[in-house]
Amino acid sequence: MELVFATHNQNKVKEVQLLIPANIKILSLTDIGCHEEIPETANTLEGNAKLKADFVTKNYGRNCFADDTGLIVESLNGAPGVFSARYAGEQKNSHDNIEKLLKELLNNEARKAAFKTCIALNINSKQLIFSGKAPGEITKTRQGKDGFGYDPVFKPTGYSKTFAELPIEVKNKISHRGKAIQQLITYLKGY
Ligand code: IMP
Repeated sequence: MELVFATHNQNKVKEVQLLIPANIKILSLTDIGCHEEIPETANTLEGNAKLKADFVTKNYGRNCFADDTGLIVESLNGAPGVFSARYAGEQKNSHDNIEKLLKELLNNEARKAAFKTCIALNINSKQLIFSGKAPGEITKTRQGKDGFGYDPVFKPTGYSKTFAELPIEVKNKISHRGKAIQQLITYLKGY
């Protein structure tokens, strides 16, 4: 079976292909000739994941899954949340986003946060939603060079290092996306 992952990010596709049963071939948007950015105009992570998966199924007639991730900071009323990628502007720059987040939390000791990922799977006219959450806190300064996005300022609960300091194998086991993808894989294995 072929399954489209609604992303242009080949790294994400490779990562998932390694985890998914070998009889399921993962295709990226580029692989199916879709070169546009799918609009993410919903106001929830689940809504955006559904929008992306539905776009592919409607326009390309394909089984598909899509993911959407957000960082939810409790004392900022859930911000940046669904706007995590463009928190500091449409340039979607991680350095700028972290800068803004640290500024918003300056002199604030309430730093509890969580990453959340939603995955929408459209398979043979059915839609399923999977989700994963990683609780933690926002550090006061950047720590670590690995990872991407908000990793240098996110310290998962139970660890003394940020996602940007932890080995990728550790991050994948405890991360929001890792947990959501594991649910997707369990479902696909039984399919
Ligand atoms: P996306 O839905 O995967 O595009 O993620 C939205 C935004 O959340 C990205 O622009 C990243 O800045 C951030 N993000 C997603 N996943 C992670 C992660 O694992 N670590 C740090 N930041 C992340």
